[in-house]
Order: sequence, then C-alpha cells, then structure tokens
Amino acid sequence: MELGRATGGTILVVEDEQAIGSLVRTYLERDSFNVLWLRAGEEALAELDRHPIRLVILDIGLPDIDGFEVCRRVRARSSVPIIMLTARDEEPDRVAGLEVGADDYLTKPFSPRELVARVKAVLRRVDGPTQDASLVAGDVIVRRDGREVTVAEEAVELTGKEFDLLTFLLDHQGVVLSRELLLDRVWGLTYPGGTRTVDVHVAQLRRKLGRPELILTVRGSGYKAARH
Ligand code: CA
Repeated sequence: MELGRATGGTILVVEDEQAIGSLVRTYLERDSFNVLWLRAGEEALAELDRHPIRLVILDIGLPDIDGFEVCRRVRARSSVPIIMLTARDEEPDRVAGLEVGADDYLTKPFSPRELVARVKAVLRRVDGPTQDASLVAGDVIVRRDGREVTVAEEAVELTGKEFDLLTFLLDHQGVVLSRELLLDRVWGLTYPGGTRTVDVHVAQLRRKLGRPELILTVRGSGYKAARH
C-alpha cells in the first residue's frame, strides 16, 4: 500500500465484497485518488486515525459491525465526508444513513463512474469555495455566491431559509431527506419551530418556483429533489 503519491488525497473504502471493492478502487485510482481498502468496520476505524483520509466510502453490510455503527463512531470524532453504499430498495436505510451523519449514499448496483462523480461532488461541497458556483435543475438555476435563483431565466425572490433549503435539496438530488434532517441542516439543531416549518418552506418554494415536480414528497419519509 502506497500513500501520498496521487493528487486527489486518500479515500478509505470499507467494503467486504471483493468485486465491488476492487472496481471502486480501480476507478478511484484512475481518477488520481489513493485508495485504502478495508473489509471490516473495526479495522477501518483504526486506520482512520492513522492516515489523513479525505473521504470514506462505507458499505452498510459488513462482517463485524455494520456501516451505520461505523458511521456513528466516525462522526463521534471526525467530520470526514462519508458516502454510504446501500442495498437496493432500502429506503429507510438511506434515510438512516444520512441521519447517522453520512453526506450521501449510493444504491447498489451503481456504476463506478457515478460513484466517482458523487465523490467529487461531496468533496466540492465540503471544500467550500471550490464547490460549483451554480446548481442547475432543469430550468431552475441557483447561484450560490449571489444567492440568486432564476426559473426559465426569470429571477425568483426567496427568503434566506428558502434559499438554504433549496440549495441543500439540490445538493442532494435524488436523495430522500427527512424533515428532521432538513430542520437540523438548514435551521440548526436548536431551532424550536418543529418539522412543520420544513413543510411550510417546501410549500413556499413550490409556489414561488412554479415547478411542483422539482421537490417531491416521499410519503412517510420526507422530501427529495428530482435528479437532473
Ligand atoms: Ca457488504
């Protein structure tokens, strides 16, 4: 194992399935990331303290402790970005994955290109200033620096929280986000308004943007922005 050569930093891959792990490693290395690949949770937690890890790709089904537990323990001591790998049709798992502090998730089977794209998207987001200046979802365009939103090239006036909520949703296109998570990330944990606040702001966004298909209600789970 050689660390420190590639330019993209080191990605810790925690995956017990040989085929998936080696595919992920190949594609990440091709994109100039160093890859540290481990098959079990405890080992991964130990390695995390030994190397400067830029991002963790974490499978949920592991031979020892599961990915959720690994994620919780990582979060207890580090804000390193985490992308979780989930089995198909595990909707509650996806939500839970984000609620234990993961930044994104990918459902198996996934294309390695998609994974690399997600890795880069999460890193851009985390790195702040280098993140995409604009978010595009159909004809809805969000400009982060100017905090401006246009729909079909017409400016739309949003409040600060509406803007933050829209940005967070569009940063996680296709991901189901619970009301609690949205409340936490957009308003902060201590906000006393309750999850009803989220519903009110989503309704306002739908009305102002005039694109009801952009933010979808996922019954019993929360909201998601349609993937573009
Ligand atoms: Ca597995």
